[in-house]
Amino acid sequence: MRVVFVGPPGAGKGTQAENIVRDYGLFHLSTGDALRAAVKAQTPIGIKADEYMKAGALVPDEVVIGVVVERLDEAKDGCLLDGFPRTIAQAEALDKILAEKNAPLDVVLELAVPEEELFKRLASRGRADDNPEVIKQRLVAYHEQTEPLVGYYTQSGILRKIDGLGTVEEIYARIQAVLNEYK
Ligand code: AMP
Repeated sequence: MRVVFVGPPGAGKGTQAENIVRDYGLFHLSTGDALRAAVKAQTPIGIKADEYMKAGALVPDEVVIGVVVERLDEAKDGCLLDGFPRTIAQAEALDKILAEKNAPLDVVLELAVPEEELFKRLASRGRADDNPEVIKQRLVAYHEQTEPLVGYYTQSGILRKIDGLGTVEEIYARIQAVLNEYK
C-alpha cells in the first residue's frame, strides 16, 4: 500500500504517521525528518535546505525530489510519504517515478485541522521552526503551495479527507477505517 499524508503544519501528521507505519508495516519517508537529519549532519543538501527551513519556506523542489528518489527504493512493501509532495511539481514528479515502478499511489489522506487549532498545537511543540513568525510563514507556504494538492488528488480520485480534531486515538481510528479499505 502506498499512502501520501497531506495536511498543514501542526495537524498531527508525525504522530499519526508513527501509528500507521507500526500497524501497517509501511516504510516511513518524512522529508522533514530527512532534511533535519541532513541539516544536522551538514551535508550539501542540509546546508542548502537550512536557510529555507529556518524561514518557514519550502525547500526547492529539485532538492526534495532528490531526497525522495534516493530513498524510495527501500519502500518495497509499501510506503507512507509524510510531508511529501508539498507542491504540484513534486506531485507530478512522484506520479512519474511511481508510474515507472508500476506502483501508483493507493490513497492520499488529507488531515484537516482548523487554523486556530494549528497555532495552538505548533506553539506548544517547541521545535526550532515553531516560533510565531516562522509558523505564520509555514502556514502561508501550506495555503499557497501545498493546498492545491487537495484539488490535484481529488481529480485523481484518491483523496480521502480525515477530520483531524479530537484525541490522537479518535483521529487514528478514522485513519484506520479508511486505510483498512486498501489493505
Ligand atoms: P515538516 O517536518 O514536514 O513540517 O517539514 C519541515 C520543513 O522542511 C518545512 O517547513 C520545509 O522547509 C521543509 N520540507 C519538508 N518537506 C518538504 C517538501 N516536500 N518540500 C519542500 N520543503 C519541505
